Formats: sequence, C-alpha cells, structure tokens
Amino acid sequence: MKERALVAILATGGTIAGASPSATGASYTSGSLSVDALLDAVPELGELAELSSEQIAAIGSQDITDAIWLALAARVTELTARDEVDGIVITSGTDTIEETAFFLNLVVRTPKPIVLTGAMRPASALSADGPLNLYNAVAVAADPKARGKGVLVVANDKIHGARSVVKANTTVVDTLQSPGRGLIGTVHFGEPRYFRGPVRPHAEATPFEVAAIEALPRVEVVYAHAGMDGKMIEAAVANGARGIVIAGVGSGNLSSPAMEALTAAAAAGVVCVRSTRLPTGFVARNVETDDDERGLIAACDLSPQKARVLLQLCLLGEHSLAELQELFLRY
Ligand code: ASP
Repeated sequence: MKERALVAILATGGTIAGASPSATGASYTSGSLSVDALLDAVPELGELAELSSEQIAAIGSQDITDAIWLALAARVTELTARDEVDGIVITSGTDTIEETAFFLNLVVRTPKPIVLTGAMRPASALSADGPLNLYNAVAVAADPKARGKGVLVVANDKIHGARSVVKANTTVVDTLQSPGRGLIGTVHFGEPRYFRGPVRPHAEATPFEVAAIEALPRVEVVYAHAGMDGKMIEAAVANGARGIVIAGVGSGNLSSPAMEALTAAAAAGVVCVRSTRLPTGFVARNVETDDDERGLIAACDLSPQKARVLLQLCLLGEHSLAELQELFLRY
C-alpha cells in the first residue's frame, strides 16, 4: 500500500484564483492566478497527498463552455484510469460549479473521488476562503471513504453532492447549499465525516457517453414571469434549440400564451422540459399542465440549470418522450 494518496489538481480559474489590487475591495479578476500559485499558497497540502497539477482553463465560471466540460471529462477519465491516481480536485468558479459537478457526475465512470472546490473571496482578499477550501477538497479526494459517492463539491467545511448543490447567495462564503436534500458530509481542517451517499445513479451507473462527442446539443433555459408571452420560446426555436427548459412559476407553470408557444415547440420536435424558478420542490407530470396532451417532460426536482445539463446528455441519444421522462425520474 502507498504511504500517501496521489491527487491530481485540475484548475479552471474562478474567484479561488482571483486577484485584486486591494485586500478589502470588492472588485477583482477571476482566474488570474495559476494552479501552481494556488498550490504554493497552501504548502500544508503536501501533508495530505502527493499532488500533480494542470491548468485546464483560466476563466470565471460564467464563461464555462460545453467544450471545457468535455475537455474536463476526458482528462478526468484519463487520470482516474491510472492506478496511481487516487482522486481528483477541480478548482472552479462558484457561479456554475453546480452544473459542472452535475455534468461530470453523469459522464465520468469511476468510483474514485472527484471533488470540485472554489471560493467566494479572491486569493488576495482578507480572510480568503480559497486556501482552506482547497485543503479540505484535497483531504476528501485523498480519502478512500469518499469513493463511490459521485462527484462532490467541497466548500466552507461542507461536502455536497453534485445533484443537490446550488449556489444560493451572491457574496457569502456559505453560498453553496443543498436545500431540502442535506449534505453528504462535513470536512473540518482536513477531517472528512460522511452522513450519507447519493441515492441517484451516477458515475459507473449512467449511460451517457461523451468520449466521442465534440459538442453538446443546444438547450435553452427560458425564465417564466408575470405577463409572459411566447416570444422567448419562439426565439429559442428559431435559434435552433433542440431542447428548451422552462424555469416555470410555481410547479413549472407558464402563462397561457407561453404554454401555447411551448406546446407548438414540442409539436415541432423540440424537447420541452418544465422545471421551476423556485429554489426547492418537485415538478410532477400533469398537475396543472396536461403534459401527456402537450408532449412535455417534467423536470422532477432538477433546477432549470441542472435539467439543462441532463437534457443535453439525453439528446445525444434517440429517446421517446416516455423514455426521456424516465431518464428525468432516474437521474
Ligand atoms: N464569477 C466567479 C466565478 O464563477 C465567482 C466565483 O468564483 O465565486 O468564476
């Protein structure tokens, strides 16, 4: 048995690599520091694991693209196939960390821990949260007990599941939450403690294959509101969307004109999924909307942004509406 785990760090930018001329100013530039600068700032990481490091991107995660997701999935797959690699840490901005985590959770087939982390305060700020988040993420990635728990997100002493985690606040260090679902565990100064595992199929138990894929299908999210008409839905169709996810009001509802536009989109072959703009809750079939009649899919408890990821993956294959609904119930 090896004395120390080997953890590969893949950096993509974000506030964890952000820098500002002022330690107390709110403005900064995401992704300015290299992965080596991040690691040099936390020499204690060497107590937890042997590390390798790579820079995959240097962006604010608002600029994440399908191409970067595919590159990350390919690299994580290559690295985790190596016997000597025990776990992966991906540093990311927090804006879209929930989508990146869910995407990888569905496409990377390994029981080895894959842990995303980020920060809310740039590396140059007073009380920067990045160094301890990175330390805790490496501790979880190096921990054999984290195997088989799907992709995890570690920040502010908490271990979240990829499916449940959401960014819930614009500025606070406790922004990442798993509302209504709870944590996978906690990690305090490098000591992980687990309460549960994810119950949904993930990693080795998913059918989504992206190794030979160069681009993901176009799926738009349309946000519902009072006084909504069908124009944004029609624009999505006109722009070539293969799928539309509605961030509906209440339990995935839409105004009548918007619902007519969505029904027309579905009839034209665009896969239309009803999610909700509410932070928690389940969107079920045929409650106030006749999904059977209108040819729509219910997103269940996936947020619009996570429903979009799942729909992009579903659209890589050929599925009936009934099969698509099953995939949404399952993943
Ligand atoms: N906009 C930043 C990003 O997502 C915010 C952060 O990292 O917290 O890259």
